Parts: sequence; structure tokens; C-alpha cells
Amino acid sequence: MVSLIATDRVTKIFEVGGMFTAKKYIKAVDNVSLELGENEILCLVGESGCGKSTLGRLMLDLIRPSSGRVLYEGKNICSLKGKEYKEFRRNAQLIPQDPYTTLNPMKKVVSSLIPPLLHYKIARNRREARKMAAELLTMVGLSPPEDILERFPCRLSGGQLQRIAIARAISVQPKFIVADEAVSMIDASLRVGILNLMLDIQRKFKTTFLFITHDLAIARYFARDRKIAVMYLGNIVEIGRTEEVIQNPLHPYTKVLVEAVPIPDPKLARERPLPKLKSLEIPSLVNPPPGCKFHTRCPLAEKICKEKDPELRLVKGRLVACHLY
Ligand code: SF4
Repeated sequence: MVSLIATDRVTKIFEVGGMFTAKKYIKAVDNVSLELGENEILCLVGESGCGKSTLGRLMLDLIRPSSGRVLYEGKNICSLKGKEYKEFRRNAQLIPQDPYTTLNPMKKVVSSLIPPLLHYKIARNRREARKMAAELLTMVGLSPPEDILERFPCRLSGGQLQRIAIARAISVQPKFIVADEAVSMIDASLRVGILNLMLDIQRKFKTTFLFITHDLAIARYFARDRKIAVMYLGNIVEIGRTEEVIQNPLHPYTKVLVEAVPIPDPKLARERPLPKLKSLEIPSLVNPPPGCKFHTRCPLAEKICKEKDPELRLVKGRLVACHLY
């Protein structure tokens, strides 16, 4: 696989407090190495606050790593300058979680879609950019496009705003998109439509997607025949083919996530045993447990788990970070 974007032992530490309280350090992403090729989809799943969004932002250069490197087409993005950096910025786009903050509420939709088309010289002039913007709206299923272009965001629904956010992300023809919880704030009835739209775009343009979600059912839908990575407290603990990981999870934390997926039938849901965790409390990122960070909750923890951090190892065709293997 030719790598389009990769992280090489990337760590991100945030400093919090300091003025009136003691400084604390939060290791949001801890020594993560990932690789995405062209035309690839990788779903990143895990509980809220496990570092998924931070990793996505590092890969877009919206924040810089504390250590390690993010490589775009083999080059460290921190060393890109001038034209090369502009090219990276164009090729790496974000579809954010909150469609209500995506667009400037004081500007019409047209004013959000035209500037990137002109900035990256995709359109030669305003007239051409407007025509392209209308075509983009049609492509993301918004019509009549001329009417939508003249609307202010407050006159659009959450689903429509998210479609516009997608239109803006694809307007510059990126090679790589980070979709960060892109359907979590959308009404449940509209989610499948937005997911299908992103999948259509992926197929049409062969765009590489890092799809971030806390919802395993959504990850399964989006990356059914692709790959999934499970994250816990800043570490990747399992990566493999989506169906294989969900049908036969190897890491104890992945097993917990799979067992926690809601069952639509309330009778079956009541009969299902709760995931067997030693503790329901998620450890603090300020003071994470030593060794395997999951050992305080893991029902299978052994002595070595408290002492040694397990590394990702190839197990049954996938990567798993657990001393059991
Ligand atoms: Fe559980 Fe130990 Fe595996 Fe961590 S390394 S998941 S504590 S068995």
C-alpha cells in the first residue's frame, strides 16, 4: 500500500491549568502510528475523550504533535512550506461534528462556498465559482441550488447544513477527509442519508477517509468492507477488517464496545448480560494507569498488565495491543 497520510509515533500532550492551579498535562494521543493509503477508509472508534478528534486534528495539521511525525505523501507536514504546504492544506479537509458552527451565521451560503474555489484557483472567476457552487449543492442533494446559495444558515436544517459542510470540504477536490462525528448531531432519520452521501463521494472521487465516531453501529455501516481502529485513552488497541473485528473482537476493550452496542429488541436487550468490566470508571488522562491503561477495568488483567504497556502485534491478521496475545 502506498501511504497517503500516516502518523509515526505521534504523541500530543495538552497543558491545562497554570494561572491559579497547578499545571497538569493531558496525554490525549500516545505514541500512535497509523497509515492510510489512497482510496482507503479507516473508522476510528472509542469512547468520548479517548483522543480520536485530537488524532484527526493532528493529521490535518490543525494542531501540532508534541512528539512524532505526521507524514503526507512521505513528507513530514511540519516541514512543508509555500506551495507544498498550500497543496497539503487543499488536499486535507475536515467535515466537522457541529453543522451549526460550520458556516458563518452572518453570511449567505454562497459566501462560504465561493472563497475556497477562488483561493485554490479551481474556478477562474466569481461567475464560474458560483456555477460550481450550485453544482456542488446539487451533488450533495440540495435543491433548488440557486435558492440555497442565497439563504443564511439560520434558514437551513441541521441535515442541510451538514450537506453544505460536505460540499465545502469536497469543493477543493481533496485526497483526504477527516469526518469527525459527522452525523452525531444530525437527527437519526437523516443520518443514513448523510452517511450514504459521504460513501458515494468516497467511491466517486476515491477520497481517503478517516471516519471518527463513538458509535460502533455507524462505524460498521460506513466501513463495512474496510478497516476499523479502536482507541482507548490515547492508544490504538486494535486495528483490522471491520467485520472481522466486530464479529470476533480480540482486545478485551473491543469486546466491551461490541457487547455495548444497543439491541433494537427490548426483550433481547434485557436478557443480554452487561459487559463484564472490573470498573465502570474511565481513568483520568491526567494520571493514566501504568502498564496497559485498560488494566483497571479489564476482567482479564494479569500482573504484567500493570507493569508493561503492550505494543501492537500482529494477531490473526490484525494488530492487537494486549499481553494475552
Ligand atoms: Fe487486559 Fe492485560 Fe490485555 Fe490490557 S494487556 S487488555 S489489562 S489482558
